[in-house]
Amino acid sequence: MFRRVAIIGGGAAAATLLGELLQRPSPHLLHLDWYTGSGAPVRGVAYGTRSARHLLDVRAATMSLFAGKARSFLDFVQRDDPGIAGTDFLPRHRYGDYLEVEVAHALQSGKAHGHDVHLIPVMVDALVPETGAVTVMHGEEAHQLDAAVLALGTLPPTPLTGVDPAALDSGRYVVDPWPLLADDRVEAAPRKVILLGMGPTAIDVVLELSSRWPLAEFIAISRHGLLPESHMNTAAAPPDSAGLIEAMQEVPDIRYWLHLLREAIDQGTQWRALIDSLRPHTASLWTDLPLEQRARFLRHARWAWERARHRMPPAVSETITALERQGRLRRRRGRPQSVQCDGDVLQLVINHAGQPHRLQADMIIQCTGADIDLRRTDHRLLSQLLTNAHIAADPLGLGVMADNQGRLLHEGRPWPHVFALGALLRGTLWEANAMPEIRQQARVVADQLLAN
Ligand SMILES: Cc1cc2nc3c(=O)[nH]c(=O)nc-3n(C[C@H](O)[C@H](O)[C@H](O)COP(=O)(O)OP(=O)(O)OC[C@H]3O[C@@H](n4cnc5c(N)ncnc54)[C@H](O)[C@@H]3O)c2cc1C
Repeated sequence: MFRRVAIIGGGAAAATLLGELLQRPSPHLLHLDWYTGSGAPVRGVAYGTRSARHLLDVRAATMSLFAGKARSFLDFVQRDDPGIAGTDFLPRHRYGDYLEVEVAHALQSGKAHGHDVHLIPVMVDALVPETGAVTVMHGEEAHQLDAAVLALGTLPPTPLTGVDPAALDSGRYVVDPWPLLADDRVEAAPRKVILLGMGPTAIDVVLELSSRWPLAEFIAISRHGLLPESHMNTAAAPPDSAGLIEAMQEVPDIRYWLHLLREAIDQGTQWRALIDSLRPHTASLWTDLPLEQRARFLRHARWAWERARHRMPPAVSETITALERQGRLRRRRGRPQSVQCDGDVLQLVINHAGQPHRLQADMIIQCTGADIDLRRTDHRLLSQLLTNAHIAADPLGLGVMADNQGRLLHEGRPWPHVFALGALLRGTLWEANAMPEIRQQARVVADQLLAN
């Protein structure tokens, strides 16, 4: 039993853990120090958007914050609008409202049970695990507790290699699109905007800025030049994949897995339903996959998996298709090589099929998505933990080394009292950073924290 626990991170992952710890019967009173970081707590980037165009990419019925309360989010939204269906894709800011209400409930319930919870709105600088204790440090302060949970989300975006410092200084090269999207003050609208990336972040950016800047044209660039697939309007019933999963488990080989998936689709299984049916098994399949097979997957199949798995809601897909038809959104294949500032414009060189191609833009927005490669991070707390060998980076750049209970590895063995939640666990679980997985992880970590 860990009585004094530090939760480090102020997003949805921390919120679900807080709920698990404060709303369950606990044999002992808890002391929780909740370090919520520097931004506004709870909503994070995902649910901090105020734009009604930014939708959840998961249907309402599957977005509960808690593993044991499947209808919690749906009940919340239906209180205001009973017409909302569980299959709807709702605005992400509604989910942010829900998170705030659930966190307030959890805090109230914790107080009523006599738990002692401290909200500490600072970034933690350092963490020192020792046998039976952890010391959490920020500024001049140091606090010793029994256990710590890292719920840090993804790493802050950094500029791609090849971007000239003058381009960064010009303000025309945007490394992190979220502050730009949040600031809707009237500004000189660019006419030609290049988006580096074509995943969910690029979709969010183009949805918002195409409306804010009605005369702007957008060019999205990615290696394969393909947008995410779209969800169907109606949810398909999951197929019985038990035989398929068994066959995959028997031969953990990516090429063989792709062959099995193609075979199932050829035999008439709906591909979307098939992909979705793998989701509850992804962690165990990934755990069994040897390292070189994981590397092969990242090299050859990741891009296809991501666009099939992280699909656009139908309404979003319709808007994007309309923008393409109007010629306001174009797609190009290529890898960015360099960005130079040339007076009032930016010059981008991309490489496609071994040839350099030059493009010009008034603004370039980096939409390369979530970075979790700890092998080259300057995140202060994670760098300190790595430098002191308290934790180890995933060898393929997928977060931190951990076991499937969320315990961080140190010299190959798990710390019994240092855990992670969310994106940092990608190397361990693969599916790690969406709510359906995070709430399960939070339950597993809470079970350990509350165990006698
Ligand atoms: C644009 C976008 C859309 C998404 N849409 C969906 C969706 O529709 N459905 C879904 O299930 N998932 C979605 N996701 C995935 C999303 O990441 C998760 O649902 C969830 O928001 C992750 O929460 P988190 O707490 O892990 O991370 P975050 O919300 O990023 O929170 C991390 C927190 O850690 C804090 N922190 C970092 N370092 C420190 C430190 N040293 N000390 C203290 N605090 C620190 C940060 O300040 C922040 O508060 C989306 C993600 C993005 C980016």
